[in-house]
Amino acid sequence: MKDEEEPHPELFVHPYKYEVEQLEMPAHLLEAPTQKPPDPMEDGGCEIVQDPEKLQAVLDDLMKYKEIAVDLEHHSYRSYLGFTCLIQLSTPDNDYILDALVLRGHLHLLNQAFTHPGILKVFHGASMDVIWLQRDFGVYVVSMWDTAEGSRLLTGRRAGLRHLLLQYCDVSADKRYQLADWRIRPLPDEMVRYARQDTHYLLYIALRQRQDLLDRGGVSFIRQAWSLSKAVTLKHYEKPLYSEEVFEDFLNSRERGFTPNPRNITAMRLLHAWRDNVARVEDESTGYVLPNHMLLKISRELPKTVQGVLACCVPPPPLLCRHLADVHTLVLQARNSPEASAQQGANGKPEHSEKPANDNVVYCTQLCDEQTAASSLLAIERAVESVPITQPVISLFEESDPQMGKGAKRKQRALEIEQSFSNPFMLFLPSIAAKVLVPCPGGLVDQTTQSFAMLQKWKLLDATPTPEKLPKKRSAETPKVVDSSGKEGRSRSIKEQIHGSSTQNDGEIKKKKKKKTLNQAPEPIQLHQYDYSQSDFSIFNTPATGKKKDFDPTRETREKAKGTREKSKETREMSSSTLALQKRIAPRRQFEPRGVSYVQGKYARDTAHRWPRR
Ligand code: AMP
Ligand code: MN
Ligand code: ZN
Repeated sequence: MKDEEEPHPELFVHPYKYEVEQLEMPAHLLEAPTQKPPDPMEDGGCEIVQDPEKLQAVLDDLMKYKEIAVDLEHHSYRSYLGFTCLIQLSTPDNDYILDALVLRGHLHLLNQAFTHPGILKVFHGASMDVIWLQRDFGVYVVSMWDTAEGSRLLTGRRAGLRHLLLQYCDVSADKRYQLADWRIRPLPDEMVRYARQDTHYLLYIALRQRQDLLDRGGVSFIRQAWSLSKAVTLKHYEKPLYSEEVFEDFLNSRERGFTPNPRNITAMRLLHAWRDNVARVEDESTGYVLPNHMLLKISRELPKTVQGVLACCVPPPPLLCRHLADVHTLVLQARNSPEASAQQGANGKPEHSEKPANDNVVYCTQLCDEQTAASSLLAIERAVESVPITQPVISLFEESDPQMGKGAKRKQRALEIEQSFSNPFMLFLPSIAAKVLVPCPGGLVDQTTQSFAMLQKWKLLDATPTPEKLPKKRSAETPKVVDSSGKEGRSRSIKEQIHGSSTQNDGEIKKKKKKKTLNQAPEPIQLHQYDYSQSDFSIFNTPATGKKKDFDPTRETREKAKGTREKSKETREMSSSTLALQKRIAPRRQFEPRGVSYVQGKYARDTAHRWPRR
């Protein structure tokens, strides 16, 4: 049979479509049940079939019955497509468990019974079983009764097998092993018991169910259930392909618990596609590569760092660890996706491209081998290589003259700056070597001293006369003195060297200053020693009244301990004790106390008007 509407009908048509559609409902479905409930399961009453010859014997046995019960156990965690592990079969007299792993290449033989229109196959919830039989063994089902469909008609919802077992057989089933690892061999007794239980009571359940259907809805109810079961057998397996629709289905079916923004959806799309690809390559389930809740957490939080990605996944899945760099890159891609940028622009936040950072990368060394970690690191390094690197540009010392050697100008400037600074102690001292005194503003200056060089370099135009304006007479009077020993020159005071005489007193200088007119050449700067005998040293004395003012290093600590109030009180007392001194202060300036022994008012500069001028 070909379905002309399909683009490749030879690939997609159900090979038993015609048989299923043309099949008449077996008459015995309308008969009142005569069978008694099955005996409780006994240990050892079930045959585990792992031998192909034994399989043929089982098949021969199956062909004797009008009805058989069928169930499958499946593994889908460590496989992309999944695979059937067990096929349980029950006749009114026997229970069989076929090891689908060892008999995989022989189980197509089941078609003889499974497609036989005279043998009713009873399943509970067969939609997946039908698909798995097709996919793994090329086995199709013709003539089926699905107790799940029957219960749907009766109660309006698909009751679980556990519920039907309790209702019709008074058996409380333990469905703990439903998600057990059915690859285990040899099968533990508990799992054998569980698998057997799924079909052991099923024929009786179907019988009771049909009676209920007849009682409540008559023959039409039975026919409806039959039609629904037919539809299940017409399900056709197709190898899943990845497409945008697959992602859309995922997006729409998920209970996310948050409203995703465009960046979240981009991350979901990228991670979903990545996960599917890795799962196919590694032949693992998508749930093993990256469980849904982790995928959603990463997509929601969009971690910036590799560690952030890991923090979303506890415990971290091994394949995520192996491809951590890839996942991190995808997350950054989502963060910088055009939709995200548009949104950021709308928020007024700046856009900036993010690249994977290679610092502080954490690898799950316990979960992935060295080679994997190295390849992840390599991926990150490659990504980092593409990051443009900028260097700071210093234009301050840029060479303006290309003729000059590299750094020459820099060195020259450095030398100039260095030369312009002189040791202040050496500034006015003549050199030990032969010196030449030349007239300079302020008198004769030894040419060999640094002060001479300074005077040549720096000119104080406002106050200092230029050498040209010096009186000719004076320069003529000044002979060139050659001090060969240098000892004599040192013994003389600097003042004497400059003025040539130390006899001039202050009175004479004042007179000369008064005489000075604008036309006259400016007088050289007269330096003279201050006479400290004129100073009033009583200012240093402790005032007769008031507290002791000697320096006390513990004072501040004590004052602090006394508290602010007492401190201010003390300050007031101080002020009164130094009243005589402060009377001379006008206006009185307020200074913030800073030093350890500072007393407000005492050391104010204005009080020192009788001190020697600085
Ligand atoms: P059952 O028909 O209850 O014996 O289940 C048959 C197979 O379906 C089991 O071996 C599981 O692999 C699979 N299965 C059943 N229930 C679930 C479930 N809730 N989630 C995932 N797989 C399931
Ligand atoms: Mn099942
Ligand atoms: Zn089962």
